[in-house]
Amino acid sequence: MNKAILLSTPHMSGKEQDYIQEAFDTNWIAPLGPNVTEFEQKIKQYTGASAVCATSSGTAAIHLALRLLEVGQSDMVFCSSFTFIASANPIKYLGADVTFIDSEPETWNMSPQALERALADAKKEHRLPKAVIIVHLYGQSAKMDELVTICESYGVPIIEDAAESLGSTYKGQQSGTFGDFGIYSFNGNKIITTSGGGALVAKDPKMIEKAVFLATQAKEKALHYEHEQIGYNYRMSNILAGIGRAQMEVLDDRIAARQNNFRFYADQWKHIQEVEMMPELPNSVSNHWLSTITLDIDKTDMTPYDVMDKMQKLGIETRVLWKPLHSQPVFAATPFYEHVQGEEAVCEQLFRKGLCLPSGSNLTQEELEYVSKALETVLKTNKGGVVSAI
Ligand SMILES: *Cc1c(COP(=O)(O)O)cnc(C)c1O
Repeated sequence: MNKAILLSTPHMSGKEQDYIQEAFDTNWIAPLGPNVTEFEQKIKQYTGASAVCATSSGTAAIHLALRLLEVGQSDMVFCSSFTFIASANPIKYLGADVTFIDSEPETWNMSPQALERALADAKKEHRLPKAVIIVHLYGQSAKMDELVTICESYGVPIIEDAAESLGSTYKGQQSGTFGDFGIYSFNGNKIITTSGGGALVAKDPKMIEKAVFLATQAKEKALHYEHEQIGYNYRMSNILAGIGRAQMEVLDDRIAARQNNFRFYADQWKHIQEVEMMPELPNSVSNHWLSTITLDIDKTDMTPYDVMDKMQKLGIETRVLWKPLHSQPVFAATPFYEHVQGEEAVCEQLFRKGLCLPSGSNLTQEELEYVSKALETVLKTNKGGVVSAI
């Protein structure tokens, strides 16, 4: 291979330029404008969400959701531990406290039993969380029936971090539409991109009106600039929404390509004992944003870092799974509930064993074959062994 094979790169359709040109032709260069409205409309139609607010990032959308749930100083918010830090950062922007919840092994997402224990304890302490942030990692939906039932029984609202799971479904329903709020990300490495951006969806359309208000500096209706609340500059630009409009039109193709990557790898590696593909929950469909595996580390002397290093030497980018947030220095001494008390946390096991593979919708068949052979070859070497070519 003469060019490096990367984890996940933007995949334009060609139509993006037309919508950007339209914005230039009509001088809608300023934030907001017809591309934003169209982009929101497309997200709404695709996901079935009742209302949508396009934002400058997925992180901004989480921040808005927390604000709309009136999370403030010293409030408590629960969040998945096994995720990218953006899921939890907005909790700290608001001065609130966080409790992290472990994963369960069947989806790698929030463990219902750990959540139940955490909520029972919180109730005893009269400090129920103002929100639970449930993340759907790598495209796989969390166990929403169980999680929704538990949250409802305690009357705690849900924010779904569907940054990685746009287009995934659970029992036929779109990821991001189960909670009071859902968020998507259109960052450069996501399944579709606006180069940078996000979206907030909500069950209650009134909440989206409020989100738009907060996202545009909380300007009151007046002839002068009148402000009663602190707001943000969080709306998506009309230029970037032009990219998003075109990307939404090819979302189904992008999902199909990523699902194909996963199936291809699964088929190629089914005889390799050290490799296990990320599990898929029955009744759910993953967009397979990233194809991920775990290594049976009893069957090889290599860690995911060793594999990553050897793959890099063959021009292939791989990456270990998310490092659990409860073990991040910035969240030292934050409460954490593990899946099974007294056992190693599920998310820690996954971090110890897991690896993300090149997963772009623009990978060629030749590249997929190269990656699959490379991993097989790398796993046949021992820790100290060198692989220079395949
Ligand atoms: C990418 C991502 C985000 C943040 O989205 P941005 O648009 O980059 O702000 C949040 N949560 C998860 C799980 C993500 O993967």
